[in-house]
Amino acid sequence: PKEITTLVTFFGATGDLAKRKLYPSVYNLYKKGFLVEHFGILGTSRAELSTKQFQVMVHDSIKEFMNEEAPQDFLKHFDYQRADITTPEDYAPLKALIEEMDEKFALKGNRIFYMSVAPRFFGTVAKLLKSEGLLSENGEFNRLMIEKPFGSDYETAEKLNNELSHAFSEDQVYRIDHYLGKEMVQNIAALRFGNPMFTKSWNRDSIDNIQVTLSETLGVEDRAGYYDTAGALRDMIQNHTMQIVGWLAMDEPATWTDRDIRIAKNAAFNSLKIYTPDEVAENFVRGQYGPNAIGTQVGYLDEKDVPADSQNNTFVAGKLQFDSYRWQGVPFYIRTGKRLAAKTTRIDIVFKKDYNLFDSNQPLSNDVLTIIIDPEGRIEYKIAAKATTAEFKTRPITLKWKASDEDKAQTPEPYERMIHDTMDGNGSNFADWNGVAVAWKFVDAVQSAWDSVHQDFPNYVSGTMGPAASDELLEREDREWIYKG
Ligand code: NAD
Repeated sequence: PKEITTLVTFFGATGDLAKRKLYPSVYNLYKKGFLVEHFGILGTSRAELSTKQFQVMVHDSIKEFMNEEAPQDFLKHFDYQRADITTPEDYAPLKALIEEMDEKFALKGNRIFYMSVAPRFFGTVAKLLKSEGLLSENGEFNRLMIEKPFGSDYETAEKLNNELSHAFSEDQVYRIDHYLGKEMVQNIAALRFGNPMFTKSWNRDSIDNIQVTLSETLGVEDRAGYYDTAGALRDMIQNHTMQIVGWLAMDEPATWTDRDIRIAKNAAFNSLKIYTPDEVAENFVRGQYGPNAIGTQVGYLDEKDVPADSQNNTFVAGKLQFDSYRWQGVPFYIRTGKRLAAKTTRIDIVFKKDYNLFDSNQPLSNDVLTIIIDPEGRIEYKIAAKATTAEFKTRPITLKWKASDEDKAQTPEPYERMIHDTMDGNGSNFADWNGVAVAWKFVDAVQSAWDSVHQDFPNYVSGTMGPAASDELLEREDREWIYKG
């Protein structure tokens, strides 16, 4: 591996995410030889901790979440400074420690700032990093890693983006969407662009429709405070689903570089049709779960902290349309929801039927390429083969691949990959502002159409694949969801 030289400052260093994901990821990068000598990890938060106490905290988090003892040689690269991130004066000691660590570990002024704090702080931190002089002027890079959510609608997202852009340019901002760090999401590009058969047929000539499903079995649990204001639309469609769609809908990038990948994805996002209220009614379905069939699970309205008259969506299904040469007339059906029949994230690419040479009265069935992202990586390809009957007929067979235990053991966790890619200056698996902005405009249009019409809830039984209207959305067009739960 290529050794990386950088300082990483973690804001929110005593938080849940830092302990569960960030320190274990840094430790893996160390074990794999990406971090060797020239790295420094600076933790900061509101808590009062000594350097030693912080190192013990990092040690314990690696012990707890990886069951390993991190050596002193690793821990000595960690230092800590308390700071209130809203207080400008508190940035001076941070700056001093950054400079000290820079010199001690010979970090060449390369700096990454990771905001693992509540979203309301993102803009403030970016502004103060610049105004208080924490960005290096002589290094190779200053980069910002930013957690979700990125705004709660287009307006708030744009405001946040403006705040960031005072201090960081777009190519310095790494907006985390951990779905983009998943192995099988990254596999979309390999399948699309690594196989001439798919590369050449990835368009309206050959593809009938594309389906993306992100289904959960859990209900709202104890997150109603946040979830009731977000719903499935903002919690799952605006970010993860749209980012997956970006990889599916883009044209071939001119070259396999960060810059060209962003350009190609952005062109696709820019051709997404934003709906009028009438088009929302036609193309989008919302749902809210009721109790399960045997009455052992309560409906959404009876969950803790959910207002009795909540109009919140716990299920969304919809049709996306791209006004582009490649996708004219090809629907992208997306759906997500809580309390569905199974927990899975998957993509089904449904190819067009062709003339049946063997029996012109019988249409062939659709070939389907399926990419299963969660719970485990799988690829399936349903094609026609000869039936073993006396007459010459075809039948569908499915070619299957599944990630091996060895594959799984070697696959980095999304957080490890995202930290590595940021260190390496590769932003292709992060959410670009342009795509985020289009996704918010799209989602805002859907939400505002829904806000103006009352809907009777609940409208689906927990443990099913959502309301009947979701199936009807496809049936109207003589199609069906490939995945039935
Ligand atoms: P947390 O509440 O566990 O930790 C928050 C951290 O911020 C603490 O270290 C706290 O000391 C610090 N902090 C709070 N106010 C501060 C202030 N005024 N000055 C300085 N430090 C302050 O939060 P978390 O769960 O670790 O989440 C952090 C971010 O990551 C959030 O944006 C969250 O949305 C995102 N996120 C978290 C998870 C997760 O699994 N926890 C998953 C995905 C995204």
